[in-house]
Amino acid sequence: MHSDILHVRNGVVVIKGPVGMGKTLTALYLSLYHQARHGLHIYSTAELYAVAECSCGGRHSIVEDSYWCDKKGRSYSRHESEFVREVEYTHLSNFWDLQVLCDKLKEAEEPPSSITKGSFLMDDGHKFLDSRMSQSKVNRLVIGIIQDYSRSQLDFYITAHHLDMLDKRLRRHISYFVTPTFYEGEDLCVAEIQEVASGKATQLRFQPSLVYPFYKTEERIVQSRYL
Ligand SMILES: [Zn+2]
Repeated sequence: MHSDILHVRNGVVVIKGPVGMGKTLTALYLSLYHQARHGLHIYSTAELYAVAECSCGGRHSIVEDSYWCDKKGRSYSRHESEFVREVEYTHLSNFWDLQVLCDKLKEAEEPPSSITKGSFLMDDGHKFLDSRMSQSKVNRLVIGIIQDYSRSQLDFYITAHHLDMLDKRLRRHISYFVTPTFYEGEDLCVAEIQEVASGKATQLRFQPSLVYPFYKTEERIVQSRYL
């Protein structure tokens, strides 16, 4: 499934569709996939967590060195886990962080730069890239990064409810559209991937339960009720 359409360098990938269809899940899956296979750093507007492989067979988010297993109804320290999956990522929680990233980009003399090469997971992209804010500083920063792809070597995975919420200059740079469907009961996410240049379509299937703990925070809330 990945052999043809998902290369190391994907440019701008827009994951679109209604709420609850697995947009963030799919964006994160793609970012994690490229980190696992190609060692690409992740820049993320969403907070990510290391994940414990639990003896229950599931995966749980590690928050403050512990994780909660709802099957066993208790919490564990991360050291009790059989295996911990770390995420190498930089949290870009606000516009200032984006400015810092852009400053680093400008400092980089020659590509490839180890500072910037990676995947940029921009969750709810329209909040950063709202077309009504096309003159905003953030917008210009992001468009600048995308236009100077050879320097930044950043692939963007942008989730959006509607395409028209994104700036039209950004839209010109989109290389793939991804439309996921989330089947919660079956622990399945099916994403239709379309390459803009060729029109070629392919399908990506993965288990949400393997990806969800990397950004899920509900477990922390459940856990705190027992403390
Ligand atoms: Zn467990």
